[in-house]
Amino acid sequence: MCGIVGYTGHRPAGPIVLDGLRRLEYRGYDSAGIALFDDHNELYVARATGKLDALLQRVEGTLPPAISGIGHTRWATHGEPSDRNAHPHLDPGGNVAIVHNGIVENFEDLRLRYARGPFLSDTDTEVLAHMLATRLESGDDLLVALREVVKEAQGAYSIVAIARNEPGRIVAARVGNAGGIVVGIGDGEHLLASDLSALLPHTRNVTFIEPGEFVDMHADRIAFTDAEGATITKRIEVLPYDPVAAVKGQYKHFMLKEIFEQPDAALDAIRGRYLTRPPHVAFEGLPLDEARAKSLTRVVLVGMGTSMHSAMVGRHYLERFARLPAEVDNSAEFRYRQPVLDENTLVVSIAQSGETVDTLAAMDEARRAGCLQITLCNTPGAQTTRVADGTILLRVGPEIAVASTKTMLASMLLLHGLALHIGRLRGTLDPAVEAQQIEAALHLPAAIGEMLESAPLIEEIAGRYAQDEDFLFLGRGLGYPIALEGALKLKEVSYIHAEGYAAGEMKHGPIALIDEHMPTLAISPRDEVFDKMRSNIEQVRARRGRVIAVVSKGDRSLVGVANDIIELPEVDPLLAPIVTVVPLQLLAYYIATHRGADVDQPRNLAKTVTVE
Ligand code: GLU
Repeated sequence: MCGIVGYTGHRPAGPIVLDGLRRLEYRGYDSAGIALFDDHNELYVARATGKLDALLQRVEGTLPPAISGIGHTRWATHGEPSDRNAHPHLDPGGNVAIVHNGIVENFEDLRLRYARGPFLSDTDTEVLAHMLATRLESGDDLLVALREVVKEAQGAYSIVAIARNEPGRIVAARVGNAGGIVVGIGDGEHLLASDLSALLPHTRNVTFIEPGEFVDMHADRIAFTDAEGATITKRIEVLPYDPVAAVKGQYKHFMLKEIFEQPDAALDAIRGRYLTRPPHVAFEGLPLDEARAKSLTRVVLVGMGTSMHSAMVGRHYLERFARLPAEVDNSAEFRYRQPVLDENTLVVSIAQSGETVDTLAAMDEARRAGCLQITLCNTPGAQTTRVADGTILLRVGPEIAVASTKTMLASMLLLHGLALHIGRLRGTLDPAVEAQQIEAALHLPAAIGEMLESAPLIEEIAGRYAQDEDFLFLGRGLGYPIALEGALKLKEVSYIHAEGYAAGEMKHGPIALIDEHMPTLAISPRDEVFDKMRSNIEQVRARRGRVIAVVSKGDRSLVGVANDIIELPEVDPLLAPIVTVVPLQLLAYYIATHRGADVDQPRNLAKTVTVE
């Protein structure tokens, strides 16, 4: 998770921007930089690889007394961490400086069309500075120029720009749901940042920028507009002094906040790991080389609850890309079963906390048998990471709500990455498939962001089902683990009895339960088993069951068949579970809140399960 800071006001901007970057440090980054235009129209830029201290040393004694400036902590997606790839990026004439969080998906194409000179970095960002400069030169106002640039640059990101001859002015945009921006309204000054922590020392009056919104700020005035340039009125929120409430920001519950953080979670999980030149996936510190990968004969994935569901998705990837027989086990079952294991077995454990007692016990079992162990975990240094031979950190930031959302999404995605990585080492992965899957994964932050735009619809649908006491979730193939997860989420937070089934099982029992009091959620994207799902839905309807169908974008074929329809965004079929889980999380959340349940701390549940 990288960070952006901007300041315009009556105080020297440099130290305030640097302090803001310091407060965003916890988000992690590989380099940092700052840009200021001073009163004499001189541009000051400093960048440094590594920790913020490296940047502080570099600027020591040289910061000009500018009254506005922008700063950035980078976590690379395109181009290695280095001084030249660090932000801010400039156009060749040095007339604009920009910082950017997220991914510009079509940057190669934009580079071919809009280069004003040689590129000095490998980033997807730099071309946006070239484009802005061209527009400014043709007479566009800075905000208009940004609006036009953003129209052409696809992806989910946020961008902030300053320009020569405009001292004191900062413009910014949020595109898609990744890369949040919060604006702080101070006394004769305005600030913006990726999250509240950078603003809190200066003001408690804030407003959150939504996807598609633009900010234009000076010390003494601020304006918000939409993608067409129409003025919008933003609600200014006064943050409470209670630090927990302040961190929750505009969200009523942590669960909702964390659901909405998922475009960023996807981005943070893949940063620096899904690489495009040449296309491959790399993980730091994994104990795997070609020989070891080729020596593997099977994979066992272990986890509990939500982690086990992500393991079930991961199994598909490992079989498909790494051509390894893969099985999934509940850690607590695995450990007591005398499983057959040897040193050619790879055991992949998933535990967001890294402390789950049953998973630790399963890992002990695997260690005794000499298996190679890789663990997925969100907590650096946690117990599982000390037992495993290698760790893949989820890197999605703290998850406070008891019901896991963003950690599950990141686990599925990183199992996809692990499978691509092992597949490449084993020589089982077609390079064309590898390139296509990497490109598709880089589109996920935008796709998840688009999915979140359905939240109001899902809230409305939830209202129609909040009084039911039983729920069935059906899916096939990659949709099956997501059906299990949808049922688990609903149980956890709303206390509604819910069951997830592989849809093919329906006729072998669960269909007996169907009547008008037992609704069904059917995961039914347009894939090779769509017709089968459709007939499952017809069977439910024939028994007076109500159906919520989750369908592919633009698919109208279930209109009039299902009672409610939720459309998925465009997404690669193999990555679909990573997007499909999102509406199910939202449904569980909204049904629970309709019922007045304590969403963040459901009864009887603990976030980290350290007892059997
Ligand atoms: N895609 C940009 C880069 O690689 C921004 C990365 C970030 O969000 O920090 O430079």
